[in-house]
Amino acid sequence: MSDINIINGKVLISGLGVVETGLSLSDGRIVAIAGNGHLPSASETIDASGLVVFPGIIDPHVHLGLFQGFEADCKSETRSALMGGVTTIGCYLGGTASHSKTLPEIEAVINAHSYADIFPHLCINTEEQQQEIPDYVKRFGVTSFKFFMFCIPGYMPSQTNDFILKGFRNVADCGHRCFCSVHAEDSSMMLDGWKRFFEQGGTSLGEWADCNPTEAEVLGVTVASTLADLCGCRINIVHLATAGGLDKLRTIRAHNPSVTVETLALYLSVHSSSDIDPIAGRWSPAVRSEQDQEALWDGIRDGTVATVGTDQDCVDKAGLEKFIRDYGVPGSSALDALLLPLLLTGGYHERKISLERLIGTVTVNPARLWGIYPQKGIVAVGSDADLVLVDLESEFVVDHSALQSASDWSLYQGRRLRGRPVITIKDGKTVMREGEIVVDKGNGKRLRVSPAPS
Ligand SMILES: [Zn+2]
Repeated sequence: MSDINIINGKVLISGLGVVETGLSLSDGRIVAIAGNGHLPSASETIDASGLVVFPGIIDPHVHLGLFQGFEADCKSETRSALMGGVTTIGCYLGGTASHSKTLPEIEAVINAHSYADIFPHLCINTEEQQQEIPDYVKRFGVTSFKFFMFCIPGYMPSQTNDFILKGFRNVADCGHRCFCSVHAEDSSMMLDGWKRFFEQGGTSLGEWADCNPTEAEVLGVTVASTLADLCGCRINIVHLATAGGLDKLRTIRAHNPSVTVETLALYLSVHSSSDIDPIAGRWSPAVRSEQDQEALWDGIRDGTVATVGTDQDCVDKAGLEKFIRDYGVPGSSALDALLLPLLLTGGYHERKISLERLIGTVTVNPARLWGIYPQKGIVAVGSDADLVLVDLESEFVVDHSALQSASDWSLYQGRRLRGRPVITIKDGKTVMREGEIVVDKGNGKRLRVSPAPS
């Protein structure tokens, strides 16, 4: 007997699109996909009439532990993620300490407290971390690394091309599943632009966009992909924000499709003329014009943009003010709870992008890229029973207090969105129902990836 049957709904199945079928879940896995009457009997039945079932959403770009500490973020922000149907998170781990020393403790915290499954990306900031890359792969099952052509001044130095090339070589030598994400903006152009903005006493999002030149991203993606080419390293351009960068990547991908592209829900939902708080929206990379936003949606439509993340960290209002004081740019608030509704509102309803293409950016595509497919990212027999049941037509108004995050604000406060996660299932258990978390404790775990032989 199965644990749960889901009947009367529609299910997004990779390669087939949205089909009317039922699902049976047992011991944390999907065990059958069949019509009503053909499923094994189950102890619980969920009537999904009027709902569409997606694979659990994967947000590949999250920061935990930036302000309120890793354990606190792990408890509150992965719980909030379930509100948006996000069941797996790619978490960037930064700093200058040896990851070999910090990872065991982080892994223990994840396994004890997280509500979502987590695969880490290790930021490589020091020579010691460079040397330890093979160790991170073999001992810790980490295959994903990050390099910064540009980093927020005062927070962490930007890296030289020499340092990045050496890192790409180290990663490429560890097997073909190993690859690097890159913050790809030219640092000299960025530093000049930021200096100009703060000297001019800039305040608006338009001024901020002007001082973060598109050319810096075009040059960044060009240099990053050239360095990757030189050593046969796969790279992923994260948080792509400009039409110019996207155009350049189309050219680059024509001869090297292993260069992949991520954008953020932020750039798809906000532009430099949007009516939002210009300080909370002073993001890095900057939100650009409405034309840039449309270009990024086109990138999803034609498949150039493979994945969408949030770049979420959890900063309350006080933390936001502190970050602005110290670095001139803010942090972000609960975004995982809104990732899916933002995509459905802007992509499915407003731009008529097919559900399979749109939802692929937060399910099957990141699962494949980070080596957790077919365990994650698809509805298939044998895959983890991580699912979100969505009412595509249901509208709601964003209220930060309903997002169950520790942050006390939202960039999207008061915005009307269409497409509401109704039930989230994680490892075969209902964990969110109608806006309430219905488990006392998370069952998230640290995901390991083994490097395939190169
Ligand atoms: Zn980030």
